[in-house]
Amino acid sequence: MKILVVNAGSSSLKYQLFDMDSGEVLAKGLCERIGIDGVVTHKRPGKENYKAQADLPDHKASIELVLKLLTDSELGVISNVDEIGAVGHRVAHGGEKLRKSTIIGDDEIEYLESIVEINPLHGPPAISGIKACKSVMPNVKHVGVFDTSYYSTMEEKAYIYPIPYELYEKYKIRRYGFHGTSHRFVCAKAMEMLGKKDARIITCHLGNGSSITASIGGKAVDTSMGFTPQEGVPMGTRSGTVDPTIVTYIMKKEGLSPDEMEKLLNSKSGLIGVSGVSSDCRDVLEAQNAGDKRSKLAMDILIHYIKKIIGSYIAEMNGLDALVFTAGIGENDGAVRDMICKDLSYLGIEIDNDINLKLPRGTQAEITKAGARVRTFSIPTNEEYMIALDTYELVK
Ligand code: ADP
Repeated sequence: MKILVVNAGSSSLKYQLFDMDSGEVLAKGLCERIGIDGVVTHKRPGKENYKAQADLPDHKASIELVLKLLTDSELGVISNVDEIGAVGHRVAHGGEKLRKSTIIGDDEIEYLESIVEINPLHGPPAISGIKACKSVMPNVKHVGVFDTSYYSTMEEKAYIYPIPYELYEKYKIRRYGFHGTSHRFVCAKAMEMLGKKDARIITCHLGNGSSITASIGGKAVDTSMGFTPQEGVPMGTRSGTVDPTIVTYIMKKEGLSPDEMEKLLNSKSGLIGVSGVSSDCRDVLEAQNAGDKRSKLAMDILIHYIKKIIGSYIAEMNGLDALVFTAGIGENDGAVRDMICKDLSYLGIEIDNDINLKLPRGTQAEITKAGARVRTFSIPTNEEYMIALDTYELVK
């Protein structure tokens, strides 16, 4: 069966077409600048990429173009749209109700619309993407795969915030957690490599957005992102966790509105906020190596917070079998992995830099130093494949 995976953003739509019999990606691509001056990029393994301007007023026009490209006599990889057996949609937020990957009908769309208030950035484009795909492909099942659903196994003590309980009841303010599909994927890979079913694993998804998750036996027990993807470790442009009183203090001092304050914490903080150089880890490392003090400070803070979370999750789980690095920084940057793992030998974490620093980008590998108590892995994430797999399992 062939499964189309769709990830709709506010002005973009990413797609991948999988052949589930071989696990191969037949084609993938991206519609960008939807509603502005559309651009489409279409890639097929081993063939030249196709990139062109396109008239893309909305998500519906974008998915229509994707289907046209997939079935095109020259650029296509299938002869007929009917070859697509189902569509898997990446949805960031499934709220409290959508706790596992689900076939999307009217009730599910209605529920997703009801939680837009707690997911204002990613909710509307995801819903619009699903509706567009359903209208263009009405004869196949559409499956929602939610970033939050991996965290449905967390206990109340991990997801209820210590604020008046009525606010949870009234507004559903709780820890939801994000990047769940990625954590689920790399955690499952690590369990396979460990050959241990009840393994205690910490997965570090370190990219533009970063989150760290603790899992026992493939079930999440805690995660660093919370009510929104703003909580946790510092990121490219997000602050991560700060003393909450800083927020109201800055608002009063600088005369900022709630929206302006959110923007400061979301887009002007983290690596870019401290370094003043860039939100991209590579640029900040380069500036640090060239002697820029604030870039070094930004990296030091990042590593400091990541270590603190790792330590706290080992305490929560009373031990650790494996530490896993993934995403843009985690799976590509041996220097950052080294900085994080340095001086964690008391906790059993020691890596072999002969392997770690020489690892080619995006390679799945074990980087544990011989004799270390905890095993450490670098595992490239593959959220799209996980979405395709969930979709396939649900519809086959
Ligand atoms: P997103 O959260 O947008 O999916 P990614 O997972 O692609 O982000 O991660 C982007 C981050 O990964 C950037 O900070 C970038 O500097 C970093 N990154 C990507 N490739 C490399 C690399 N080869 N070496 C070091 N860092 C990298």
